[in-house]
Amino acid sequence: MRLPSVIDAVLADECEGAMAGRILVVDDVATNRIVMKVKLAAACYAVDQAENGAEALRAARETKPDLILLDIMMPDMSGVDVCRALKADPNTVNIPVVLITALSDHDAKMDGLEAGADDFLTKPVEEVTLLARVRSLLRARDTVREWEDGADTVAAFGFAEQATGFNARVAPGKIALVAPGPRGAILWKAAIDDRLGGDVRIIPREAALSDASSDTGEATDVFVISVDLAQRNEGLRLLSDLRSRAGTRHAATVMILPEGDTERAAIALDLGASDVLHDPFDAKELAIRISAQLDRKRQSDRMRAGVRAGLEAAVTDPLTGLHNRRYAIPQLERMLTRPGPGPAVMMLDLDHFKGINDTHGHLAGDEILKQVSQRLREQLRRGDLLARIGGEEFLIALSPINHVDALDCAERLCRSVGEKPFKIGAGTKPVSVTASVGLAHPSKDSDFVTPEILIHEADMALYRAKSHGRNQVSMVSETAA
Ligand code: GH3
Ligand code: MG
Ligand code: MG
Repeated sequence: MRLPSVIDAVLADECEGAMAGRILVVDDVATNRIVMKVKLAAACYAVDQAENGAEALRAARETKPDLILLDIMMPDMSGVDVCRALKADPNTVNIPVVLITALSDHDAKMDGLEAGADDFLTKPVEEVTLLARVRSLLRARDTVREWEDGADTVAAFGFAEQATGFNARVAPGKIALVAPGPRGAILWKAAIDDRLGGDVRIIPREAALSDASSDTGEATDVFVISVDLAQRNEGLRLLSDLRSRAGTRHAATVMILPEGDTERAAIALDLGASDVLHDPFDAKELAIRISAQLDRKRQSDRMRAGVRAGLEAAVTDPLTGLHNRRYAIPQLERMLTRPGPGPAVMMLDLDHFKGINDTHGHLAGDEILKQVSQRLREQLRRGDLLARIGGEEFLIALSPINHVDALDCAERLCRSVGEKPFKIGAGTKPVSVTASVGLAHPSKDSDFVTPEILIHEADMALYRAKSHGRNQVSMVSETAA
């Protein structure tokens, strides 16, 4: 039943190498499918077809389309039921679904949204609206994929740290309504208050913008914005502003437009609106759409937090919480490229630590390593680098500093370990530990210095401190650097 393929051939030619995504069109009427296919293929989407619900479910699982356009009225299974089945299957749950209906059947619409459909389009489907909606949903899908890839990469390195506290406590959503006048916003608020709960505020445009520049963690999850505020299109400008600022970039935005204003609906979607809705709307519909946006935002927040936690774990030493070598070397590299005098670099190694472990046990050794880290941390400033790069070896890099101060700091670090014994548990005598420090400090005019060279020099100095009796600082001379 595959029709053909003149269209396919011509379009494949024009779109070569530029397929924008794969879309599954589901409709029991062949003509409808072809019409849709021509519109989509002209915009360089690859189109698959299914003529009933069962075939749609199979195709969705097998070809994993980027988007599904789903007719509501089909003989074997209604589009709403197909949508529900897609959203219940983990393999297809993340594929955006747009329901297509001939009727403006209000109940079917609500059922569809509740079944997890992302949007509705009414036949005959208007091309501008269709393509804008498709672009917007695919963009959202791409963002999710990028984070999924990030999470996979992090997991592949073995650092898939669960972002803590997220599942345990789903914070109620923060919703901000920005309308032209107080009356409109009060009606919106009444429409969603009973249905959504959470924190729903009516705010002026300026407050939305100041939300954008704050990073207090009090961020709004969903903005509902009227396309026209004090001036025409002011809502669209606000949308662009929110999308471009760090504080609100990840917030969802639902734009409210006058009935029939499909042109600006398409513009809003292209500007990055998460959803659009035409006024007058059904209160329930607004509530469902906001709640879908809240769910989506939570999912992406969770993914972002997971990736961040994983990356954090990848550069952190779990015992001491200090950075590890993976972080330290590139960080030292960055410090070296900064203008001005170069950093001072130290290697600090605990003395006879094997003996400490042998005498007091490995657990006591671990406890001492933690406390040493804490003591070293207290001696350093923001911007200094402190990393545990070996078992009982620490790398310290001080931001630009003169020789006298560098040496002074090295002495302080050395003393901070040796001056006071470590308490390793109740009923056990505190244990004395000392450290040796090697310091390298390249002169101002040595312009070829790499992290490896500096670390090597600090290592040589450390070796000298060890051979001169330990518990002391040794420094590479300036000319040697
Ligand atoms: P030196 O003064 O020459 O540095 O002697 P040392 O014993 O400290 O040096 P060596 O390199 O021979 O041994 C280092 C010891 O550090 C070996 C190991 O028992 C201990 N160590 C390394 N990593 C850890 C750790 O994560 N926990 C504990 N408890 N001990 C560790
Ligand atoms: Mg040692
Ligand atoms: Mg060592």
